[in-house]
Parts: sequence; structure tokens; C-alpha cells
Amino acid sequence: MADKTENTLQQNIDRRKRVNRIKNGIVAVISIWMLVSVILCVTLLVRVIHLENTLREITKSLPQAECVEDVVTQNSPKSDTTEKYDTDGQPVQDANTEQNTKNLAKEGEQLKVYLTFDDGPSKNTERILEILDEYNVKATFFVTGKTDAESQALYKKIVEQGHTLGMHSYSHKYSVIYESLEAFEQDYQQLHDYLYEVTGVDCKYYRFPGGSSNKVSNQDMREFITYLNEQGVTYFDWNVSSGDATSQAYTAEELIRNVMGDVTKYKTSVVLMHDAATKTTTVDGLASLIEQLQSMGAHILPIDEDTTPIQHVSIEDTQ
Ligand code: ZN
Repeated sequence: MADKTENTLQQNIDRRKRVNRIKNGIVAVISIWMLVSVILCVTLLVRVIHLENTLREITKSLPQAECVEDVVTQNSPKSDTTEKYDTDGQPVQDANTEQNTKNLAKEGEQLKVYLTFDDGPSKNTERILEILDEYNVKATFFVTGKTDAESQALYKKIVEQGHTLGMHSYSHKYSVIYESLEAFEQDYQQLHDYLYEVTGVDCKYYRFPGGSSNKVSNQDMREFITYLNEQGVTYFDWNVSSGDATSQAYTAEELIRNVMGDVTKYKTSVVLMHDAATKTTTVDGLASLIEQLQSMGAHILPIDEDTTPIQHVSIEDTQ
């Protein structure tokens, strides 16, 4: 009898031990699971913060990348015969048909080529300035508003080296500058005054973000053109594009081919290129492009008051 009781007691103790072991096991598993979860969360948090920083870095250089002149306009290197549209998407008479006809080069005629760079300054501007200096070539830089010391030094360097400093809007944000005439005026004044303050130059040349034939403006672009004219400012589009702002991801050789294929057509070629931080192929191809232009006898010049304006939209359309 005593043995039986002892046995039952022993069994109970054993059962309790087993239950305790299972309990401990469960607690251990939950603890490990929680620990792993915490580690995972922390790791993910660190990763998110890291990615946010990377994104911020990328976004910093994006005002330039936002520029997609070729994408938002009908004009491209092969655009001479392309139908153009007004801001409502309605086909319009090509404002520069006459301009193009007058501008066609005759056999053996001296060609003028204006290399223009939009969206800078950036780290690529420095390299472009070096290459231009090496070949003693002057170009035109349509810049946006950047307040860091490097950019300020580059605005000055552009001027000091004899290039033309042109305006390309302060913010380069289509949705802001093309919202209304007031918004456009404000952005224009901000950039004009800022560049004057930094370089002492009263800029007289403007390139619309997206070009005058862009399809993103809410307003009639002719209102902005009229305003610029009132300020004594001439706006320039382009009739030759390197294609460096398109989604095609052209190689340096292809960019050169795009330009060389079209500059032979015109007496005056205004070539669209970009000196944004992401446009490294433009820099890579520049020396070779200059060599090829020079070897065909083209005059490479900076835009000045004698330059024939190349414009996609004519103000005469308003009359
Ligand atoms: Zn641009």
C-alpha cells in the first residue's frame, strides 16, 4: 500500500517535472522568437534609415535629372518634320518652319554651332569646363538655382572663362513655374537676381525647362515669352539634340552621332546637352564631339546678341 502511494507520488513528481520542462521549453522558444523579432526589427530599421539617406542623396542630384527637355517636347534630333502641338495638345502651325527654311545650310557654307548645357551646375560642369578650356571653345550654360559654395564657384567660373551664363529657371519644377504667370515671374526674378548677386552678370538668355514647346505647362507659353521679352531676355530652344535627356541611355558615341547627323543641316545649330550630375556620357563624348565639329570647319560659339534665336514657339502667333 505504502509502495503504491510512493509510486503515485513519484509519478506525480515526474509529471510535474515534465510539465515544467515543457513550460520552460515554451518560454524559451517564445523568448528566442521575441529576441529574433527584435533583432530583425532593429536590422530593418537600420536598413530603412540607410536607404532613406541614400534616397536623400539621390534626390539631391535630381533637380537636374528631372529635366527631360526631349521627353516633354515634340522636338528631337529628327523633329524637323514632326508635327507640333500647343499646350492643349492641338496641332499648331510649326512656328519655326520659316526659321528652319531660312536656316538651312547651303553646300560649303560656314556652320555656326552653339553647344548648350542645361540643368547645371553639377560636378560634371567642372569637367566640361576643363574640356572646353582644353579646346579653347566657348559654350552656353543654362543653369538652375543652387546655393552651395561649389555651385557658386561654378557660376563664376563659367563667366570668368568667357562662356555665356543663361537661365533655366530657379527651381526647374514644371508644376511650380508653369502654374501661373506670377509663379513664372517669381521664379525668373529669383534666378536672375541670384545670378547677378553671385556673378555680377545681368543674364539675358533663357531656356524654358522642357523647352517652349513643352506639353506640361498649364499656361500658354507665349505669356511667359512675352514676359521675358519685356525683361529684354531672349529665349532659346534648340534644333539639334544630343539625346542625353531621353530614356534611350545613349552611349557617348551615339550622342555624338545624334549631334553630327543634324549640325550639317543648319547654318545655325543650337545643340541641346545637359551638364547634370547624372549625364556622364555627355562629358565622355564632349572632347570627341568638339574634334569632329572642328574638323568639319564648324565655328563653335557661345550664345550672344548676334546669335540667331532658335525657338519652337513664336510670339507672333499671339498677334
Ligand atoms: Zn532642364
